[in-house]
Parts: sequence; structure tokens; C-alpha cells
Amino acid sequence: MSPMSKVQSPKPRLESSAADSHDLRAGNEKRDPTQLAQADFGPRTLDVGLTVTDLRKAFVSPSGERLEVLRGISFSAVPGETIAILGASGAGKSTLLHLVGGLEVPDHGSIKLGEFRVESARRAELARHRNAHIGVVFQFHHLLPDLTAAENVCLPLIVARHDRRQAMRSALAALDRVGLAARAAHRVTDLSGGEQQRIAVCRALIAEPRLVLADEPTGNLDSNSSGLLADDLISYAATREAIVLIATHNQDLAQRCDRVLTLEQGKTCEH
Ligand code: ADP
Ligand code: MG
Repeated sequence: MSPMSKVQSPKPRLESSAADSHDLRAGNEKRDPTQLAQADFGPRTLDVGLTVTDLRKAFVSPSGERLEVLRGISFSAVPGETIAILGASGAGKSTLLHLVGGLEVPDHGSIKLGEFRVESARRAELARHRNAHIGVVFQFHHLLPDLTAAENVCLPLIVARHDRRQAMRSALAALDRVGLAARAAHRVTDLSGGEQQRIAVCRALIAEPRLVLADEPTGNLDSNSSGLLADDLISYAATREAIVLIATHNQDLAQRCDRVLTLEQGKTCEH
């Protein structure tokens, strides 16, 4: 995407709350285009951009048939971009996200996040990379039912050995930013499906990943909840300069992303 197309599609922003200690970057959409061009192609962008080159992946079915799911996928993304990945069921959307996230190994091709080569990383390096830089949202929220919303959201920070009280403060701030502060102390089983899924999004974002992989995140939601969840992801990309890839069938969500990649017969077309 050119810098100009980014100017033409300003994104909504997270409201900064008093509890939010993060340094939100001021007015992306208000910057002049010259500055934006510098920002997009400056050193920071080169550090954290995503480059996927000629990814190929085949599976062998139990009957021995070889299924070529991805046949040479290439694209790149700059910080702040949201990209929808469309495609029929079975087109390879989840496979692509798994490869980008280092959960599966490609047969061919490369994935670079900043300077980090995902496909050739060793297991321990990859685990550190995922913990530090990647947030994942699934179709089903996978929250822990016995914990409250806030406890679920702060789990990644606890696992990363952050101070517990600070982790809880961050979780409350995150819930507050998306208008779910009043649900913080509720057990997740007492919340609606839409709220549960948005809490899963908060949990995926709490450690401020550079890259968010969302696999049909609105698959089970009504249009109102889908819209709110889209707000959460798109705002996150804009304010934290993260890259967000969303596999989806939801056309409304796709249209709100900066770019749409469609997977068809193992290749992408962009429109
Ligand atoms: P999508 O997410 O677009 O629905 P997937 O990436 O899940 O598609 O799957 C693409 C194709 O690859 C499907 O035909 C699926 O059955 C097959 N596939 C995915 N993972 C495996 C696997 N681990 N073993 C064998 N086949 C797989
Ligand atoms: Mg899938």
C-alpha cells in the first residue's frame, strides 16, 4: 500500500483513559503526507514490517493425496496496517496465519517480522518471538471460565512474569479503553458471546504485540458485536502501529481494513 492510500483511509483511534499509561502517538490521520511518507519508510517501519515471500504449503491427506494449499503467497505489511484475508472455506486462510505466526513450517518461502526470520527460527527462539510480538485471536474465545474478565485479560502479563498488581492495572485500563470496564469483575461465563470475544481480543493485545493474527474472530457474533470487535482491532493497529491480519468471511469487517487479500487456488489477489 502506498503512503497516500493510508492517508485516504484514516482509522478510528482508541480513546486514551487516565489509567492508560501508554504513549499513544498523536493524530496519525492529521499528520501531513510528507511526514507520513517519512514515517512509513523510516527506520522504525523497516524494523517491524512483515514480509511474506513465496510461501508454499502442501498437506498429505490420510489417503495419500497431496493437497497444495498455498502455492506461492507473497505480500508485505507496514506497521499500522490492517489486512483482511478472504477466501472460501478450505482456501488456506488459517494455514497462512499459522505459517506467519510460526505455528507451522512452510515447505518453501520466508516470513520476516522486522529482522526475525520465522521459518528458520529454532523452537525456543520462536516461542520467545511469539510471546513477545504476536497476539492471536481465534473464532472461539478460549477464555478460562473460572476467572473474571480482568483476570483473563492480564494472564499473558502474569505468564510473562510482570508484577501482578501492575498487570491487573493494565488489564483494567485495556477493558476501560474498549468500554468494558463495568464487566471487569464478572466471570466470563456470565457475559454475552460478543463481550467474551472482545475480552479475548483484549487478552491478545495486552502485551502489545507488533503483529495480531485473528482467525475468523467474528465468526460467531452478531453484526453489532462484530462491529465493536472490528473497532477494537482497527484502533489497536492505528494507535500501536501494529500489523493486524484478519481471516474473515465478514465483508463489513473486510471493507474496514486497509487492504483485502483474497486466497484462491493457493494464490492471493489483492483489491
Ligand atoms: P480455511 O481456514 O481457509 O478454511 P485451512 O487453512 O484451514 O482453510 O485449510 C486449507 C486446506 O488444508 C483444507 O482443505 C484443510 O482440510 C487442509 N488442511 C489444513 N491443515 C491440515 C493438516 N494439518 N493436515 C491435512 N490437511 C490440512
Ligand atoms: Mg480457517
